[in-house]
Amino acid sequence: MTRTAPTVLVVEDDAPIRRFLRAALGESGYRVEEALTAAQALDALINRPPDLVLLDLGLPDRDGLDLLRELRGWSRVPVIVLSARDREHDKVVALDAGADDYLSKPFGVAELRARMRVALRHAAAAGGDAGSASYTAGDLHVDLAARRVTVGGREVHLTPHEYKLLALLVTHAGKVLTHRQLLREVWGPEYGDENHYVRVYMAQLRRKIEADPARPRHIRSEPGVGYRLVEEG
Ligand code: CA
Repeated sequence: MTRTAPTVLVVEDDAPIRRFLRAALGESGYRVEEALTAAQALDALINRPPDLVLLDLGLPDRDGLDLLRELRGWSRVPVIVLSARDREHDKVVALDAGADDYLSKPFGVAELRARMRVALRHAAAAGGDAGSASYTAGDLHVDLAARRVTVGGREVHLTPHEYKLLALLVTHAGKVLTHRQLLREVWGPEYGDENHYVRVYMAQLRRKIEADPARPRHIRSEPGVGYRLVEEG
């Protein structure tokens, strides 16, 4: 299969990490562009828009989060944050600032490639009308057009909030959504700190769709950060 290779902009001041990414991504068929500073990154983002950005947060001229917030004012390009900051709070801040995903250093190449595929797929679906109206993973099937959810062929009845939560996770399958993002999308923009709402409804939802709610296969918790719908069955 021949397709145009996606271009990845690697924003990273650390030379050994850049070298590692260049080798790993080149092997996977990506075209790699590099920026060593936030200023170089902005120049590349404006003049040679990439398909995906890998963004280090500790840049010499500016905080990566700052750059991300500015970028989100005019671009939907998928951004995966690569950071040595591993506190849960930092992940939440990055995701809320508009990152599509987050990887803590050190990370494995396989994990990075998987996250990149998810981010590119979402960007493609959001760009065209390719957003599929139904979702299947293992025994779970969600028909977004009909608002119908089945597990193992049996229909599951969800309350409006439970359904909204699930639909949101489904349309962002593979991606972490923060507590705050879920809260605002499901309950409304005036919400922000009522994380217990999300926890309570997520527990109810899991009881309805997971074979073993204590060991969920579909909706994974990212402790202290949020939730992610696992893509494959
Ligand atoms: Ca750095």
